[in-house]
Order: sequence, then structure tokens, then C-alpha cells
Amino acid sequence: MGETVIPLADLRYAAPVPIIPARLVEPTGLLSDRLGRPLRDLRISVTDRCNFRCSYCMPKDVFDRDYVFLPHSSLLSFEEITRLARIFVAHGVEKIRLTGGEPLLRKGLETLVAMLSELRTVHGRPLDLTLTTNGSVLARKARALAAAGLRRITVSLDALDDATFQRMNDVGFPVADVLAGIEAAQSAGLGPIKVNMVVKRGTNDHQIVAMARHFRNSGIVLRFIEYMDVGASNGWRMDEVLPSAQVLERLQAEWPLEPLEATASGETAERWRYVDGGGEVGLISSVTRAFCRDCNRARLSTEGKLFLCLFATSGHDLRALVRQGRSEAEISSALGEIWAGREDRYSELRSAQAADAGSGRRKVEMHYIGG
Ligand code: SAM
Repeated sequence: MGETVIPLADLRYAAPVPIIPARLVEPTGLLSDRLGRPLRDLRISVTDRCNFRCSYCMPKDVFDRDYVFLPHSSLLSFEEITRLARIFVAHGVEKIRLTGGEPLLRKGLETLVAMLSELRTVHGRPLDLTLTTNGSVLARKARALAAAGLRRITVSLDALDDATFQRMNDVGFPVADVLAGIEAAQSAGLGPIKVNMVVKRGTNDHQIVAMARHFRNSGIVLRFIEYMDVGASNGWRMDEVLPSAQVLERLQAEWPLEPLEATASGETAERWRYVDGGGEVGLISSVTRAFCRDCNRARLSTEGKLFLCLFATSGHDLRALVRQGRSEAEISSALGEIWAGREDRYSELRSAQAADAGSGRRKVEMHYIGG
């Protein structure tokens, strides 16, 4: 006995165990990578499971009854997540987003929110603690999440029309229940709320104006996301991407809009406001206008692997360090070296990478790495 059993799912993506540097270095909060980008934003995937089967993310034919999700023992515990988050924060992280999979499916998530809300940035401020959800169980959970210390929330919703939305989520989930979740989040004070709409040409682009009309004057910021080539399962094709510039044209045909300054460096969305005061919208042009240049995001997968880019093909096994009983100083120094060596800029190099698609290196799936 005494053998270590490694579940197959653990071997899903390459992730070497980071080397502990010979000289341990205290975090300064000023870490930056090879392109001079700081570490500010950490996305944590708390589960690889989801109750939706959106064709662009977890298509039903791949993520079917036989698909092996991670066993519970592989998942980082809340204590492990908080321990790692504390180390990231010491290196300069100011914003943490819980995601997945569907984060609200992780049992007791409020407990994790409460633990993370205790952390303080290197400047002594509370973190910008947020969560991205499909909204399916938000109506039931919004109040408890706010009470636990969640500050704001992003809800994904791809259409207002039930037939389109249900075709996209592929489990027949109704729009009304997501809208009820958004309302509950508003009453719980989880604001400002953002709504993410992934736009797929020919699938839901006829919903752009209807969505904008619905969320105008509500205080909710609707963001249009270009359909991305994440993972290896969604059969992505460029002709299904509707460039943000065309989204903007369709909006401007209805209402005049003007650009707004970015509120924070590394922000993914370009912000526009309705000239008549109806609020603002965001355009996330991850395909047509890559924003690698100031990407300050790290991603921690459900099983504790660190990924430096949404389009990465391999990660760094931080969970191994935690479970080997490594000290905070050791893990922190290893993380410092990993970030300092970072030079990922996949989206900028996308066309070159497309030519390399046959090399057999599989991009990590979004539900696992965290959207
Ligand atoms: N389950 C949660 C949700 O639905 O928001 C969190 C995880 S989900 C992977 C995070 C975000 O990624 C969602 O807004 C989703 O629409 C977006 N997303 C997933 N696949 C995408 C793709 N191929 N292109 C663009 N956005 C995508």
C-alpha cells in the first residue's frame, strides 16, 4: 500500500511542479513579467462542472454523460485556495474573480467568499472580489453571497429570446430565471452588475439590439464578447465571429454612443456610453483587437494549476507545492519566478498559432481554467 493514486483527470493538461528557487525572495507587490506587465488580476476556477452546455464552451457532444470531471479530491479546498490567493495578493493582485465551470455549483461557496474577503491588498485595501455566473441559481444565492462579502457580479446571458437562449445553453434553461437572478443580485447590492453576451454570428447576433434595449437605463453594463477560439472542443470558426466594430455599428444605428476612458489598466472591455445618458456598454474584442499588451491576469484552475494565458497549453502545478507542505516563502518565490518569466501573448500571435494547430498541443478548456 502507500501508493499514490493519480486520477486520470489530473493528467489532463501538462503542468510541471514549479522549481523552488535556491534563494527565497520576499514578495514586494511589484512583480512584473518579461513584457513589463504586473500581476493584478486572479481568476479562480472553483469547479469544472456546469449545468449548461453552451455550444461555444462545453458542447454536449464532448461534455456528455461519459465525460470524466475532476474527482472531489483533486479540487483545491477552500483553505488551499485562500492560502494561494494570499500569496498572489502579496505579489500585487487586487482583484479576484471566482469562476468555473459554474461557480455557484460549488457547495458552500459563500464560505470561500467570506475567507477571501478577509484578504487585503498590499496597500491595505479590500480586494475587488467578484464572480462570473450563468445566473441559473443566483436568485437563491445572491443575498448569502453579498452577506459573505462578495462585492459585485457578472452574469452571462446570450439572448433575451427564449428559443435562441435555450438553443445556446442547450439544456432548455429559460431566460426568465436568469433575469430573476440578476434582479436578486441587484436587490442584494451586488453592483455594478455586468452582463456578458457572447456574440456568435448567425446564432444570436439578431439579439444585440434587443439586449441593449433591455439593459439600457438599468444601471447594468452589457458587454458584448467576441466568440473566442478557447479550448479545443467548440469547433471555432472565424466566420462565426462578429467583430465588435460591427456590434457597435448596429448599436449606433439605434442610439448615438461615445467612447469612455478605461477605468483600470488591463481592462478587457472597451467602454462606450449612450449619449442620451442611458448608461454604458462594453465591447470585448479578444479576437479582432487583442489586448495581450496589458494583460495582468493569472488563472488558477480547479485543481490548482496556474495558467498564464487563457489560451495556454500547459500550466504550473501549484497544488503540488501546497500538498508537499511547502512554506509560504517557497511557494511565493516559485510564483515570482514563474510570473517574471511570462511572455505569453497568444491573441496577438493568433494567426501564427493557427498555422501551428497541427502540432498536437491542446489548448486548455475554459470551464477548467476559468473564464
Ligand atoms: N459559468 C459561468 C458563466 O456562465 O458565466 C462562468 C464560466 S464561463 C466559462 C465565463 C464566461 O466565458 C462566460 O461569460 C461565457 O459566456 C464566456 N465564454 C465561454 N466560452 C467562450 C468563448 N468561446 N468565447 C467567448 N466567451 C466565452
